Amino acid sequence: MRKNIVAGNWKMNKTLQEGLALAKELNEVLAPKTPNCDVVIGTPFIHLAAVAATVDTKKIGVAAQNCANKESGAYTGEVSAAMVKSTGAEYVILGHSERREYYNETSAILNDKVALALANGLTPIYCCGEALDIRNANKQNEFVKNQLEETIFNLSAEDFKKLVIAYEPIWAIGTGVTASTEQAQDMLKFIRSIIAEKFGQEIADNTSILYGGSCNAKNAPELFAQPDIDGGLIGGASLKAADFVAIIDAF
Ligand code: 13P
Repeated sequence: MRKNIVAGNWKMNKTLQEGLALAKELNEVLAPKTPNCDVVIGTPFIHLAAVAATVDTKKIGVAAQNCANKESGAYTGEVSAAMVKSTGAEYVILGHSERREYYNETSAILNDKVALALANGLTPIYCCGEALDIRNANKQNEFVKNQLEETIFNLSAEDFKKLVIAYEPIWAIGTGVTASTEQAQDMLKFIRSIIAEKFGQEIADNTSILYGGSCNAKNAPELFAQPDIDGGLIGGASLKAADFVAIIDAF
């Protein structure tokens, strides 16, 4: 059966020293615990190797927040999936709305990134989600379906099984406005239903689908109790060990 996952996305926060201190604290707090979910932290690239060496990676998985859409070579400033993997990271967040919006990541680019991540043995945490105008027009299902059909629904069933999906409505990210439990559950149920249509019920039942967007210790218990919500992708509340652990403890 599918896994529950709580994944942090630090975004562009924390110097190397601050990030290592947070990773160390998390490692210590989680050491005596047996969480009812997998725990992942998504750090900036420069933190990956040091964080992976600091934490017990059997207990805390490490994720990059992006990887290049090229294998290697003359792409100044880029970081390849193979490089990410070589740090000890096991996951990569792909398709985050901030990457799509500020760095013009199209479906074509994302298809290449997902393929390279999989080829290098990384687990993509693949993000989708609509903007407020689309939600207000009640077109969110159609929009998210299209995002998935243009990208990860083109994968083989074998490859699709390796993904984690995160639904993050843009209007809920960093705004303090969480999707209501019902909105989040409805969308994740919808996503699971279209996975079932495309890849079959067994694969749909085994795919972990996370909710992200102003998820915190207060709203996590109700969100995580929903049948189709398999955990969270956490931004702001992943930046302090106590806040993040409180969300992990919501399972
Ligand atoms: P917040 O939890 O800060 O709303 O961010 C969510 C997010 O974008 C995680 O990827």
